[in-house]
Amino acid sequence: MSIPFLDLKAINLAHADEMEAAFKRVLNSGWFIQGQEVAQFERSFAAYCNAEHAIGVANGLDAIFMILKAYGIGPGDEVIVPSNTFIATWLAVSHCGATPIPVEPVEATYNLDPAKIAAAITPRTKAIMPVHLYGQPADMQPIMAIARQHGLKVIEDSAQAHGARCHGQLAGQLGDAAAFSFYPGKNLGALGDGGAVTTNDATLAQAIRTLGNYGSRVKYYNDVAGYNSRLDELQAALLSVKLPSLDAGNTQRKAIAAFYSEQLADRPGGIVLPVVPEWADPVWHLYVIRHPQRDALAKALAAAGVGTIVHYPVPPHLQPAYAELGYKQGDFPIAEAIHREVLSLPMGPTMTLEQAAQVVAALRTALAGLNQ
Ligand SMILES: *Cc1c(COP(=O)(O)O)cnc(C)c1O
Repeated sequence: MSIPFLDLKAINLAHADEMEAAFKRVLNSGWFIQGQEVAQFERSFAAYCNAEHAIGVANGLDAIFMILKAYGIGPGDEVIVPSNTFIATWLAVSHCGATPIPVEPVEATYNLDPAKIAAAITPRTKAIMPVHLYGQPADMQPIMAIARQHGLKVIEDSAQAHGARCHGQLAGQLGDAAAFSFYPGKNLGALGDGGAVTTNDATLAQAIRTLGNYGSRVKYYNDVAGYNSRLDELQAALLSVKLPSLDAGNTQRKAIAAFYSEQLADRPGGIVLPVVPEWADPVWHLYVIRHPQRDALAKALAAAGVGTIVHYPVPPHLQPAYAELGYKQGDFPIAEAIHREVLSLPMGPTMTLEQAAQVVAALRTALAGLNQ
């Protein structure tokens, strides 16, 4: 039996009846943008994150971008970002005209290294943007301390971390504002694109609402040159169906991750396993291992029917999209090594321990084959 990397069909079919009811409710309401469904989901998601405000937006990239915009960050400004992340973290900074300043991660946790942030701060620095990568929270306490000392905003890229906790506190209210994505593959996923900003700052919340709605608070009266970036009624209704089972899904992910870590504790073939600090409660958006022969390993697993994905093959500073920044191979060696060696194993809320056992067996066979 082959094991998919992520079974999106099964994840959503588990909610088929409720989703069909939600669809009919929206269809019959005749109201598709900025209505009760979005308002209801925003209240529930804010409550879930223990944040005062949640604002639905079109996607995760827009969530980050509009936070930066609302803080007035623009040309000439710098924002500290991880050197190893999904490109959207950097793109949001670029799209408002500011410059992403990469800082290397702690190699074991893949998250922004607080000890390296101070050296990257200049008079132009306006914000620090930790990413809770792979669902594991960044080391927020020292990051907040550095930010407060230098008068910087902290924006959490929480796109992979719905429900993750740092020192018992939920992602989404660990910094000044947080960006979430509801892309279908995320821990809380819509049937299309979606995103949200969470914050305890009422002024910021209002600014984002205005920015995402053509810069308008009152219809046809425009305060600023805004955008069209809204969560729609249908996606909000579908997300409201799925939100109550987010914790159960995360619990299953944790069970799969614990199984992998226990079964692979002898580190066959010298693989590197995820490391979780004692203050972190990750939600295992991804279970990522490392191996120097990553590509051969992925190929052998594919041949054995086990789906894997590389998150991500090329670090942002070496993407053609960022040629203008003038970085070269060797500038961020930790990020480069990570991107060369990481491999994400199958993981998801509908995956079973039996499937995880098959993945472990296939992985052991594949690793043994590599060294011949
Ligand atoms: C998915 C993701 C985003 C972007 O979210 P979209 O909804 O796809 O725009 C941003 N940052 C990280 C770390 C992500 O994983």
